[in-house]
Amino acid sequence: MQKITIVGTGRVGETTAQILAEEELCREVALLDVRSGVPEGIALDIFQTAPFFDFDTRLEGSNNPAVLVGSDLVIVTAGLPRKPGMSRSDVLEANVAILDGVLDSIQRWCPEAMVLVVSNPVDVLTYRAWQRLGGDRGRVFGQAGVLDASRMASFIAEETGLSTLDITTLVLGGHGDTMVPLPRFCTVNGIPVRHFISEEKMDRIIERTRSGGAEILALRKNSSAYDAPGASVAAMVDAISNNRRRVMPTVAILDGEYGEKDIAMGVPCILAEQGIESVVELDLNEEEMASFRSSVKAIRADLGRIPGK
Ligand code: NAD
Repeated sequence: MQKITIVGTGRVGETTAQILAEEELCREVALLDVRSGVPEGIALDIFQTAPFFDFDTRLEGSNNPAVLVGSDLVIVTAGLPRKPGMSRSDVLEANVAILDGVLDSIQRWCPEAMVLVVSNPVDVLTYRAWQRLGGDRGRVFGQAGVLDASRMASFIAEETGLSTLDITTLVLGGHGDTMVPLPRFCTVNGIPVRHFISEEKMDRIIERTRSGGAEILALRKNSSAYDAPGASVAAMVDAISNNRRRVMPTVAILDGEYGEKDIAMGVPCILAEQGIESVVELDLNEEEMASFRSSVKAIRADLGRIPGK
């Protein structure tokens, strides 16, 4: 990709920018934020790491939405993070208002760009982005499951002492308390994870995965997570930028898949140069499907709170 713009250069935005630059996932990273001077300062700071990390990626920071011109991909991390004790849904109204302004700028300056939503509640905001932008649903998507799956993998690695390199996990559904970790689809180098972990321990890992973000927020107190979120966004960008056709859990607009329509939520997708190439439909068993439906219900309740477009 030639150009990626990150809107919102807070903790997640800055971390993502550093990784995109270091890994040369595009020629140019633009940073857009409402805080005066901040995106310019971050762009300079990151570019000054180029001699250490050997990259040629250029960076530009601005408060002017016109910086969006020429973007192939816009990553939206603008918005309020939750505070300890809050759920992701508690920042819904504030973040929909912020997102709507960002979407107006995207419409005006780079209407053809792909849009990757990170701000929370990410399922609702991804749907909002597609509702407002319209067009091909494969070009508007969100990050949730890549992070949730990496949390689950890290907990399995901690529990078993095995390498994270061999651990594959899958988490679908909404990015919240009703997310759907799927142990049946988790493996250690192809071997079902149940071979290494008792059901009881796996249940504890599932619960810890569901509250993985809250655990970090409670510990950090004045910040929600941003290292793993930034790495998760960069992994999705890598799949797109290098047209890898990776299968990654992605917040996608559903149009009949999993029996759902007019909703965005985490499902496995093939990510390629055009964004989502297709949604992968898994044969979920009764229990997994029931969890998935609870997640649908929770997201629909939040979708009911967003204003008309
Ligand atoms: P932060 O407060 O550090 O950064 C938010 C940034 O958005 C700030 O720099 C702020 O100035 C900027 N901003 C606000 N309004 C803007 C606008 N109209 N245009 C441009 N920039 C604007 O927060 P953070 O920790 O980086 O988190 C950002 C968002 O990402 C939050 O909503 C958080 O909940 C979410 N998040 C999502 C995931 C995920 O997995 N999807 C993970 C972590 C955080």
